[in-house]
Amino acid sequence: MNVHEYQAKELLAAQGIPVPVGYAALSVDEAVAAAGKLPGPLYVVKAQIHAGGRGKGKFKELPEGAKGGVRLARSVDEVRANAEEMFGQTLVTIQTGAEGKQVNRLYVTDGVDIAKEYYLALLVDRGSGRIAMVASTEGGMDIEQVAHDTPDKITTILIDPAQGFMPHHGRALAYALELEGDLNKQGQALARKLYDAFIALDCSMLEINPLVATEDGKLLVLDAKMSFDSNAMFRHKDLEALRDETEEDPMEVEASRHDLAYVKLDGNIGCMVNGAGLAMATMDIIKLNGAEPANFLDVGGGANKEKVTAAFKIILSDPSVKGILVNIFGGIMRCDIIADGIVAAAREVDLKVPLVVRLEGTNVEEGKAILAQSGLPIVAANDLGDAARKIVAQVREAA
Ligand code: ADP
Ligand code: MG
Repeated sequence: MNVHEYQAKELLAAQGIPVPVGYAALSVDEAVAAAGKLPGPLYVVKAQIHAGGRGKGKFKELPEGAKGGVRLARSVDEVRANAEEMFGQTLVTIQTGAEGKQVNRLYVTDGVDIAKEYYLALLVDRGSGRIAMVASTEGGMDIEQVAHDTPDKITTILIDPAQGFMPHHGRALAYALELEGDLNKQGQALARKLYDAFIALDCSMLEINPLVATEDGKLLVLDAKMSFDSNAMFRHKDLEALRDETEEDPMEVEASRHDLAYVKLDGNIGCMVNGAGLAMATMDIIKLNGAEPANFLDVGGGANKEKVTAAFKIILSDPSVKGILVNIFGGIMRCDIIADGIVAAAREVDLKVPLVVRLEGTNVEEGKAILAQSGLPIVAANDLGDAARKIVAQVREAA
């Protein structure tokens, strides 16, 4: 799960991490009111979308040369003018894809006199099984270019989670950022606080780009991108409230309501499978037969009629789906129960695309009989290869 910059900053501020003052706004009036609460004279109006690269982003609807998604304003009137221009527009950045993201929220924050911009990120490094702290003196909007052209300017510090954050990690970070004097001390303290926040909030990623040194010698978090480990959300009920579903794929949101693991893909064969491994194998074998899966969908071990129906509806709400392959292993759930679910669901959703079903496991014969007797145009398959060949052929025929 991801959150907006302003939410990440509120979470960090609550852990004693220095961030500039700012307020989120859902309308022009709220943006103006937010600016009224800030000292001025420099304000920054920032688009809140779940994607980075906003500063260099472009608004689709605005003329060439219009300013991007992070704008300096020198008066409350300028804040108003920028808010009027930005609300409801589509911002395209290197991270949004060509379709962009609609700006429904702004963050109005204190303008900071920046002396230097740094890059700092924490993430879970699967390779080493450690928390990686990644730092660079070359922070700011060109960090991707820095990583590509001069990777030696990026330092990685690994922290063993069992041992935890040690003073030498802080010193290594401050050294990597070439911080001196009081800034060096601030850097060490900040590193520890960020690590503690990362662990306390069960983050999977925390990226601060830029971290800045101000003209008056303070380290400040100027931008923050935070994502959480979904598997840990059960112990952070309060974070659940920060979820902004308008930022997520509507089908994936619907799937999560039914406890289904769903990821939309680019192909045209919808897949309904139980178990992540079987789902991966099913996608592979569709590709082997020269077609592309339209989604990954794992209905889980306890798939019942309700889940199967919900899964059908989600798959069919994707207009690119031209055929469905159901591949279910009846282990915990018997094949006859699954077949009942498939038949009921196919009737309920008024299925108009070819459906190939491969069942295997407990009571498979009873299950196949239910499908055959349903009167629905369901094609039965005997094994995975057979199923993939059949659905690919059916979709080609229908095209
Ligand atoms: P993004 O990474 O999405 O482009 P940032 O929040 O990093 O957005 O903003 C882009 C740039 O805008 C920063 O690198 C910084 O130079 C400038 N900036 C952002 N916030 C402020 C601020 N509060 N005061 C002054 N400059 C800012
Ligand atoms: Mg940034």
